[in-house]
Amino acid sequence: MPLHESEAIVLQRFALGESDRLVSFFSRTMGKMRGVAAGARKPKSRFGATLERLSYIRIWFFERETRELVRISQCEVIESFLDVFRDYPSSVALALFSEITEMVLPDREPSDANFRLLLLAAQAVKRTGKPDLPLAYFALWTVKLGGWLPSLTRCARCGDALDPNAAGYLGPSASAVVCGKCRKPGMRILSPAVLGAARKMLQERLDRLIEKSEAISPRAARELADFMLDVIERQIDRKLKSRELLESHV
Ligand SMILES: [Zn+2]
Repeated sequence: MPLHESEAIVLQRFALGESDRLVSFFSRTMGKMRGVAAGARKPKSRFGATLERLSYIRIWFFERETRELVRISQCEVIESFLDVFRDYPSSVALALFSEITEMVLPDREPSDANFRLLLLAAQAVKRTGKPDLPLAYFALWTVKLGGWLPSLTRCARCGDALDPNAAGYLGPSASAVVCGKCRKPGMRILSPAVLGAARKMLQERLDRLIEKSEAISPRAARELADFMLDVIERQIDRKLKSRELLESHV
């Protein structure tokens, strides 16, 4: 049984048996994995608080040849996000980050871009206490990295450039944006502010956008997040559980 060492982010955790934990984690070098932390729910477990959701950790684990679950041997916290869960809106954003990562990434396929995105977004929520912009950024880039982002610069129907000062229109499948001429009844309106926010987020780093706080309004960020969460739900073909918390609070 080879021992592996990796940076990882804890995605989900479940009680298992009397005192163990089943943990889903995103390893930087090996991708999304599941493992068992034996005795992790005992009061004096060696795992302590290392396996909290979104914890950025260094993890040591053994692969077992015949089983999909790895055996987690040891963890050290690099950065904890435990305090962030005390603030309700921030905790909902973090819950969405972990749920979306769990749902969209295939098992055991490393993706450094997704890893950096998850960490960057969680750190931005922690640092600012304002989850709107990081959530929109995370959702947009998850969609972009997944290859599911519709064109935001050209109409999907006629191919004309979308006027940056005009609204775009989104069909029911949330998979294509069309111009005013190609609009059909019932299509959702994407305001110029929402489309502008998306274009800025594709060009600038999250920390730069946070510094320039006037660049994107919280409202545009929320609308963009809503649009992107629709795209994600369509891709995974189910509703995101944490999203209900978001909507019940707005
Ligand atoms: Zn058009």
